[in-house]
Formats: sequence, C-alpha cells, structure tokens
Amino acid sequence: MHELSIVASIVESVTESLAAYPGARVVEVRLNVGALASVVEDSLQFCFGIATEGTPLEGSRLVVNTLPVTIHCEACGADGELESLQSFRCPHCGEPATDVRQGRELEIDAIEIEEAEECVKP
Ligand SMILES: [Zn+2]
Repeated sequence: MHELSIVASIVESVTESLAAYPGARVVEVRLNVGALASVVEDSLQFCFGIATEGTPLEGSRLVVNTLPVTIHCEACGADGELESLQSFRCPHCGEPATDVRQGRELEIDAIEIEEAEECVKP
C-alpha cells in the first residue's frame, strides 16, 4: 500500500528528530500534502494508526493539510490555482498549464511534542 510506505517514512523521520528529546512523546504530526500527491487521507490516517504502534508516535494525531495545485502560466505570466485537476489550464487565459509550482508536496510541516517531565539522568 502506497500510504503505508509514506507513513513508515514519516514515522522514521519523526523518530529521528526525537533523538534530541529523550523521553518525549509526539502529540501531533502535521503534513503538507499536495493535491497531486495522490494520497488518500483516510488511508493515511488508517496506516498512521498501525505504523505508529509501539513507536514514540503512538497515540499522536495526524493532521493533513491539503495544498491546492498552483501553476505559473507562460502565456500570460500569471500565477494561479487550478480550478480542477481534470483541466490543467491557466485560470486566467485558458492556455494549457505546464509549469506546476505547488501540488506535489508530501512533507512534514511540523511536529508537536510533549517533553519528558522528569530529568533524564546519564
Ligand atoms: Zn495564462
């Protein structure tokens, strides 16, 4: 499953960032997902629940922020948001849009953690 491998790499990179905060627990993971990333949020949420079991991310929330597709039109020079994924055309002049500026993202935007209350002794 596509989403499962995505989630697995998220868990991996969050766990790596946590190395600097021993004992910390992850509360929330925010993702930026472009509309062209072909990711189904429901599957992502489902896989997140499975993949985080037994990791410092267990029980944390996954927040998916969907980014619209934006293009730069070479014909009229405008930047715009695609009205529909079915028509890759400039919303201003209708020319075919070839220069996609946003929409393929699949990245961690932010991680919220709760640091351990007790001091970590060496
Ligand atoms: Zn245009």
